[in-house]
Amino acid sequence: MLTPHQVPVLQQIREPFLTKKGISLYLKREDLIHPWISGNKWRKLKYNLLEAKNRGYEQLLTFGGSYSNHIYASAAAAHESGLESIGIIRGEETLPLNSTLQFAKDNGMKLHYISRSKYRDKKELWLIDNLRKQFGEFYLIPEGGSNALAVKGCAEIKTDINVPYDVISSPVGTGGTLAGLIASHDNKVCVLGFSALKGDGFLEQEVKELINDYPKKSQWSIDYRYHFGGYAKIKPELIAFMHSFHSTHQVVLDPIYTSKMMYGLYDMIRSDEFIPGTTIIALHTGGLQGINGMEERHGIKLPK
Ligand SMILES: *Cc1c(COP(=O)(O)O)cnc(C)c1O
Repeated sequence: MLTPHQVPVLQQIREPFLTKKGISLYLKREDLIHPWISGNKWRKLKYNLLEAKNRGYEQLLTFGGSYSNHIYASAAAAHESGLESIGIIRGEETLPLNSTLQFAKDNGMKLHYISRSKYRDKKELWLIDNLRKQFGEFYLIPEGGSNALAVKGCAEIKTDINVPYDVISSPVGTGGTLAGLIASHDNKVCVLGFSALKGDGFLEQEVKELINDYPKKSQWSIDYRYHFGGYAKIKPELIAFMHSFHSTHQVVLDPIYTSKMMYGLYDMIRSDEFIPGTTIIALHTGGLQGINGMEERHGIKLPK
């Protein structure tokens, strides 16, 4: 069983423009829940690891890119739970390993690389069957960790929020976190997702499938305007925003998910997309391990 290292606190974000617009904004610091299994990955893995243990599995297998927060967290969570782990990594091995994969390896994860074309078939049974032949029985966690048990874990995110609120927002990758928020609120609350991927309208179906079994649902929508060129892409105005947010609030945002969501929220508040009097909870979903990788790839310096 994963235990939280720290209860995620609610941090009020104070800025003159928020007061002027009549908006109360809080950051729920899910990033503080665990030093390595951070943010939403902790929530998503919690019941999956319990299930793997209860069903007697000795190892788990999952998928991710070479800078993946999910791979990093899964390796640490498996290690902490006494499970072996296998990471199926998209693309070719490059040595020396980057800091994400080195950490995974140090936590005992077996790294197995597959081509980008094969990686696209990660949900196909024949591929999973081949992996079973190669590695033996394993508990399968999909890419990004989004499955029914992940939704159950993410439905607990709201439990210790002790202020009334109208909107709760989260960055979106595979949609499991958003699904947990939708499934745990009623229609008085609006759940707002910010896509970290470029595109329009392609995430709703996955989210709908994940919330299918839940009777009660919040209002919800996904905003596709703030991807900054696409997944793991970055622009100077986003870097500047991360620096100013850090110096004003002493909070480090990750470059792939939470910074884009916060930028989006600021932008929407400034352009009066929320009515005065609205209280917004934004989730800091973690992901800070990814900062080194972004600095490496883009030759930039980010707050950390
Ligand atoms: C994985 C991740 C997300 C995306 O979560 P999904 O449930 O896949 O939508 C958001 N933020 C951070 C920091 C993440 O690591």
